[in-house]
Amino acid sequence: MLNLNDPTLLREAVPVGTKWIAADPATGTPVYNPSTGDLVGYVPNLGANKTEEAIAVADKTRRDWAAQTAKARSKVIRRWYELLVENQDDLAAILTAEQGKPFAEAKGEIAYGAGFLEWFAEEARRAYGETIPAPIADRRIVVIKQPVGVVAAITPWNFPNAMITRKAGPALAAGCAMVLKPAPQTPFSAIALAVLAERAGLPSGLLSIITGDAAEIGGVMTASPTVRKLTFTGSTGVGSLLYGQCAPTVKKLGLELGGNAPFIVFDDADLDLAAEGALWSKFRNNGQTCVCANRIYVQAGVYDAFADKFAEKVNSLEVADGFAPGAQIGPLIDDNAVAKVERHVADAVGKGASIVTGGAKHDLGGKFFQPTILRDATAEMVFASEEIFGPVAPLFKFETEAEVIAAANDTEYGLAAYFYTKDMARSWRVSEALDYGMVGVNAGVIATHEAPFGGVKMSGLGREGARQGLDEFMEEKYICMADV
Ligand code: ADP
Repeated sequence: MLNLNDPTLLREAVPVGTKWIAADPATGTPVYNPSTGDLVGYVPNLGANKTEEAIAVADKTRRDWAAQTAKARSKVIRRWYELLVENQDDLAAILTAEQGKPFAEAKGEIAYGAGFLEWFAEEARRAYGETIPAPIADRRIVVIKQPVGVVAAITPWNFPNAMITRKAGPALAAGCAMVLKPAPQTPFSAIALAVLAERAGLPSGLLSIITGDAAEIGGVMTASPTVRKLTFTGSTGVGSLLYGQCAPTVKKLGLELGGNAPFIVFDDADLDLAAEGALWSKFRNNGQTCVCANRIYVQAGVYDAFADKFAEKVNSLEVADGFAPGAQIGPLIDDNAVAKVERHVADAVGKGASIVTGGAKHDLGGKFFQPTILRDATAEMVFASEEIFGPVAPLFKFETEAEVIAAANDTEYGLAAYFYTKDMARSWRVSEALDYGMVGVNAGVIATHEAPFGGVKMSGLGREGARQGLDEFMEEKYICMADV
């Protein structure tokens, strides 16, 4: 069992409407630690009825919440943020137990996740409208912002805390209610958030969590006319399916989908900085983020030098159980993820790539895979077009700026891109030429509360975090005031 300061944070129950529903081990869904295979606990196996109930209660409670002042809502969300910070170690331990990422990295995620609550508690009070000069003398044009209403959220397992706070923070700050379906692999991080939301004084019924069959729950969420917005983070396949399911009720949509991030190292780059940036851009969360470098393009003149520097850093990564001191790389989430990276490596080697380091399962066994670098990657290899989502770094060689921009953009995705150069003119030129929602120039990890996160093309719709993140949960209403 996990050794928590506050064991009540690991709760085998979910809040639905105004009640908590406890898991029955006979019918509930087990959650296992991906590192050890140990049972973490059970969550209830719920379906259509409870989803409908949660939506109905959300619709009842949201109006009183929206009628409160922005400052009153802000205070609750601020308190929620403080409780996350106060319970950082316990929340991180729950996260490591169910997701596998190293404890230090899990603590980092809790701080990052809490930061969205802090940011949106602040932004709640800045939902400014506008006044517009009217074309008729006795009229006034006023635009106000109002909450969209009931929001459904579906979240992934790679950031079990932060992907929820990045949605629930702005939704609740705006005055919405939320019904959340967390990933089946990581429900306990979501539940712990709800326990703390209750303690922070969030009115009952505003945040429900439904665990159970994804397609059934998602089906009710998307079909419901009461739900006015769906916010989803996950794969492009599921995202586009949900997009279609939302069409009949014309919902607002926020979709944070897959990526295929290019990471470009030009001849004039600071190679030490680039190797360090590539290390964290690629291997953070064991390569399991949608903004992880997927294709590393290195200009011919520095290809060998970069490969050497990068390999030295990758070889020093500590692969271990997430609770082991000094762990930097944990297990992959499940056996399918391991099979996928094995398939990517075999495909590349079969087409002429060579292994610089790694390339196989780790001696630790189970879901552990060696941090891997491949040389001589080409556009014919599967990872050129498919997200790896694991610890495999393919190095592609290029000659000219025009060639690498074309290669970088030659994908259906458009989430994050990175490049390293010391040339100022090139920095602007390449930033503008990349068809991506986010670009890191001499920076390999760029997500932050203050900046709008999101993609173009098949990587999704809308932005999260930043000022824009609040707008996503609000509608603008135009009021025309005429004199009587
Ligand atoms: P991954 O392959 O990384 O798990 P998914 O897109 O499958 O990514 O999962 C992201 C979230 O979407 C999870 O909460 C998952 O349970 C949910 N999900 C998967 N399939 C469906 C579906 N058909 N309807 C609704 N939600 C789904």
